[in-house]
Amino acid sequence: MSRFLDGRYAAMKPYVPGEQPQDKKYVKLNTNESPFPPSPAVLAALKGEEEKLNLYSDPTASVLVGAIAAHFDRIVKSKGGKGISEKQVFAGNGSDEVLAFVFQAFCGKGRGVATPSVGYGFYPVFCELLGIRYNPVPVKSDFSVGIRDYEGIKDNIVIANPNAQTGIYLPLSDIETLLSADKDRLVVVDEAYCDFGGESAVTLLDRYENLIVVQTMSKSRQLAGGRVGFALASEEITEDLNKMKYSFNPYNLNRLSIVAGAAAIADEEYFEKTSVAVANERERLKDSLGKLGFSCTPSLANFVLAGHPAIGGRELYLALKEKGVLVRFLSDAALSPYVRITVGSAEQCDALIEAIKQVFKEKGI
Ligand code: PMP
Repeated sequence: MSRFLDGRYAAMKPYVPGEQPQDKKYVKLNTNESPFPPSPAVLAALKGEEEKLNLYSDPTASVLVGAIAAHFDRIVKSKGGKGISEKQVFAGNGSDEVLAFVFQAFCGKGRGVATPSVGYGFYPVFCELLGIRYNPVPVKSDFSVGIRDYEGIKDNIVIANPNAQTGIYLPLSDIETLLSADKDRLVVVDEAYCDFGGESAVTLLDRYENLIVVQTMSKSRQLAGGRVGFALASEEITEDLNKMKYSFNPYNLNRLSIVAGAAAIADEEYFEKTSVAVANERERLKDSLGKLGFSCTPSLANFVLAGHPAIGGRELYLALKEKGVLVRFLSDAALSPYVRITVGSAEQCDALIEAIKQVFKEKGI
């Protein structure tokens, strides 16, 4: 730490992202990326855009915002809703940035953030950075979220659905219970993992002005390295988010990400095909792990949280890393018996299972 760092940040513990090793090639199942390449439509859209990098990107990201609005407008209307307009879409440099703007705009010391005690590790970090009161609400012993535990809480609620780390999904009726209980409290539903079996809360936007839905293109749309995330909310809320953005970084999305994101969300066929493939592979992976004596959370995400009675999470993570397979060990005490494994391609999952078998053989498990 330099002697120049402002005292406010001296004790701050930053978020530690999953390893992105550059030294050798691993079977990489540690940061919930898609095992599939970007859609061919994305690669085609990128062609020629790099020649315009001398010019600033469109601060309104209108091509991207338009494509996102069109996609969700169709979904909402197909379920009998009013639809989604472009004014209800806010795009950011990954959903981490979108979430940071949401926290900054709507939370503070007075109205903190209530969130399940096991969840996305960035939420407490944003709170510390931005001076927001962090209110972790304990999850049950099976990691499920008790909706009644949020009764009477005045803080805004931020909830990943399916939840981060566990993949456990809350039905929309539970989200609606949170929304209707107190209309002065925002409910931010972080849907990073909802495309692998869950249902988006976007259809509730017509009825609840205290709802913010946040999604990312990092998991189900093959753009983790493109950094595209977005929020869907009332026009007034997106106006507030734009106020934050234009006070911080107006060109928050670069040219390449804008065209890539627009093409990715428009290619519904590729999205469907790859999301279904990941969901099917998840079930096969759970099955294979179960046969080796693991128990897994009932995940509807593109990862599973798996624990084995004969080996701790850190030990298994290190042993697999040595064999060239990267999974995620999460240092949170409640999660120390487990590893979080991203659902990869069939080949990657087979390689993982083989590596686990070898580890077990070597350790006499
Ligand atoms: N929310 C959750 C629950 C996540 O797990 C992640 C990925 N680490 C994000 C948001 C952020 O995703 P990105 O910034 O890549 O859009």
